[in-house]
Amino acid sequence: MTELLALTAAQAGERVRQGDLERGELWRFYRDRALADDLNAFTWVCDGDDPEAIDPSGPLGGVPIGVKDLFCTEGVPSQAGSRILEGYRPPYTATAVERLMRGGAPVLAKTNQDEFAMGSSTENSGYGPTLNPWDRTRVPGGSSGGSAAAVAAGLVPWAIGTDTGGSIRQPAALCGIVGLKPTYGAVSRYGMIAFASSLDQAGPLTRDVTDAALLLQAMVGADSCDSTSLGLPEPVRLPQATDLRGIRLGVAEELSGEGIEPGVLAAFEQTLEIARELGATVETTRLPHAPHGIAAYYLIAPAEASSNLARYDGVRYGHRAAAGDLLTMYTRTREEGFGEEAKRRIMLGTYALSSGYYDAYYGRAQKVRTLIAQDFQKAWERFDFVVTPTSPGVAFELGSKTADPLAMYLNDYCTVPMPLAGIPAISIPNGLSDGLPVGFQIAGPAFSENRILDAAHALEQAIGFDGSAARA
Ligand code: GLN
Repeated sequence: MTELLALTAAQAGERVRQGDLERGELWRFYRDRALADDLNAFTWVCDGDDPEAIDPSGPLGGVPIGVKDLFCTEGVPSQAGSRILEGYRPPYTATAVERLMRGGAPVLAKTNQDEFAMGSSTENSGYGPTLNPWDRTRVPGGSSGGSAAAVAAGLVPWAIGTDTGGSIRQPAALCGIVGLKPTYGAVSRYGMIAFASSLDQAGPLTRDVTDAALLLQAMVGADSCDSTSLGLPEPVRLPQATDLRGIRLGVAEELSGEGIEPGVLAAFEQTLEIARELGATVETTRLPHAPHGIAAYYLIAPAEASSNLARYDGVRYGHRAAAGDLLTMYTRTREEGFGEEAKRRIMLGTYALSSGYYDAYYGRAQKVRTLIAQDFQKAWERFDFVVTPTSPGVAFELGSKTADPLAMYLNDYCTVPMPLAGIPAISIPNGLSDGLPVGFQIAGPAFSENRILDAAHALEQAIGFDGSAARA
């Protein structure tokens, strides 16, 4: 059994396809591990048998997957970590999930998350926080913390999440796994319970870069149900690169100095040294507007959220408060159903969009967003990729930032500029600081996923990170 746990998802799938491993055995092994979860990584686990409709001869090899709660999955609780959606079982399945199932990955579990993906620690979940398998007194990051913790702990072979300001990459970093946020539009958002629609993007959280490539390959593609979806211009390839010859890395000065913990910086420097040894050139670059990313993001994302969350009124889905008249039912449902952070963002967003303040806040934030995108455009004239630490710190203690929303928001300092610019970025584990995992982020131009995966693969091989301690 421990032998199964040592396999990456790609390796397990290969064995199933070769006939060396029975798909039912793999399913039962992970089902039993997921059912025994003591990290609160899941909001639902399938306790039945391997769904036979899934064809394991597909590229995903019958390897079961964990899906962030906010992906609508037909007949399965899909609550986006919110009490307001308690008991909601959608009548349809999100396109991304459907594609994974078509590729041969049966859905084993829904993973815990911050309510409506608002948060960096999974402590904003309406269903209790998830614990970090490296240290159970610490958070797994967020908002896709359930997916990250479950993959790191070997409760599922692989998982997907969503990233609006860092919610795939930051929890991946804090749990010592790989997380990839694709180019905006690469993956359909149809059936993803929306947070901030101009930023939300689905992507893989996996043990290694090859697993991430396999999931991305299955998920991408234009979709007539999401008019912002484009797919990618070329098929996703499984990464092969073992060196970085000819690759020019730009170290984003603004995102890799002040405010970053010393242990994280030390790991970052070490990885840059490895990159040089692999043949890359490493120089500093400027992203002058990136430090304003947090301010712009925390206007744009709440503005969009306040609009997206208007649909939860007790009439159509989930929770409905008892009340004598319609208006009281609306207000009481929202009062009871939304958590504190969702309420905070609805108020912030509504304020930022109100007619007297629209130009001063939302309009200004959109201009900053354009400037950040232009900073990256400029960087691509000299560099293939921009690299940064993924998160300014390692996993923090549960409860240590819940009373201070600004401290919580600063976790996204290195990850918000990329979704604001719509570009792809990956986080790979690049070492430990005080026994806790650290992530290294590689961002590239729109549609550069294949090149990012190759660079990440080369680094991953050379770094040789060992995540087995979290699976014990
Ligand atoms: N932590 C950020 C937030 O709270 C990003 C969340 C995300 O990417 N969904 O909004």
